[in-house]
Amino acid sequence: MVGDDSASKVYVRNKSKACEKVGVEYEEFLLDSNITEKELFDLIDKLNKDKTINGILLQSPIPKHLDQNKAFSKIIPEKDVDGFNPINVGNLCIGNDGFISCTPFGIMKIFEYYDIELEGKNAVVLGRSNIVGKPMMQCLLSKNATVTVCHSKTKNLKEITKNADILISAIGKPNFVKEDMVKDGAIVIDVGISRLEDGSLCGDVDFNNVCNKVAGITPVPGGVGPMTIAMLLYNLVKATKKQNQI
Ligand code: NAP
Repeated sequence: MVGDDSASKVYVRNKSKACEKVGVEYEEFLLDSNITEKELFDLIDKLNKDKTINGILLQSPIPKHLDQNKAFSKIIPEKDVDGFNPINVGNLCIGNDGFISCTPFGIMKIFEYYDIELEGKNAVVLGRSNIVGKPMMQCLLSKNATVTVCHSKTKNLKEITKNADILISAIGKPNFVKEDMVKDGAIVIDVGISRLEDGSLCGDVDFNNVCNKVAGITPVPGGVGPMTIAMLLYNLVKATKKQNQI
């Protein structure tokens, strides 16, 4: 982790707690926000070469003077348990095995667990970040959903979301999705996490407003967040097995 972003601190703490719970040894490197690119890349190189380390995670966001994409591509694909190295991103796009970004991967596990059919469904993703929106689109496409990705420049958003059998929101705007944006019987997945003035956590979806209209909805907190961490551990086990040819 570079710098001391308060949300990132919480995410890192939750990830380390999850490691402790399942018996994974982890080491935290808390780097000064003024660190140079060379210092960061030297550390990543050292961890890449260390055979006792099976997975490396660079908590995003990192300070603006550092190039995040370049930093993600420094982590070797074999240890890239977050799935952000361009090799893993490319593998997801072309349907090759690799590491899938943990949040979309966790959402796909939710669909699998609840036996939610995706083939032929209209899936709408709000948000096009490299971490959530874009890999989510690829995951849904791979299961034969028809996918629309919306962003801040999308026109007539409500008309698009109202046709969604599956609606996934990852924009980071508290209570943005209201009942009049959602189709009867839709499945709604809320990725957003915002902290309100009273300190409570809130999703992108106005849960109480929407919940009676839909067939399924994930809560915030307690929905996608824990699945993201579970998939991080899943990727780590997969990486460890591969590195040890198990
Ligand atoms: P991000 O990089 O800030 O991207 C936000 C996306 O939302 C952008 O594509 C943006 O469009 C779009 N957007 C913003 N306002 C919009 C609007 N009014 N209508 C339509 N699209 C809009 O965010 P992120 O990293 O993907 O994260 C999104 C949210 O998910 C955040 O709240 C984050 O904390 C949360 N998150 C949760 C987890 C988890 O495990 N639960 C994991 C990752 C992220 P442009 O591209 O046009 O700017």
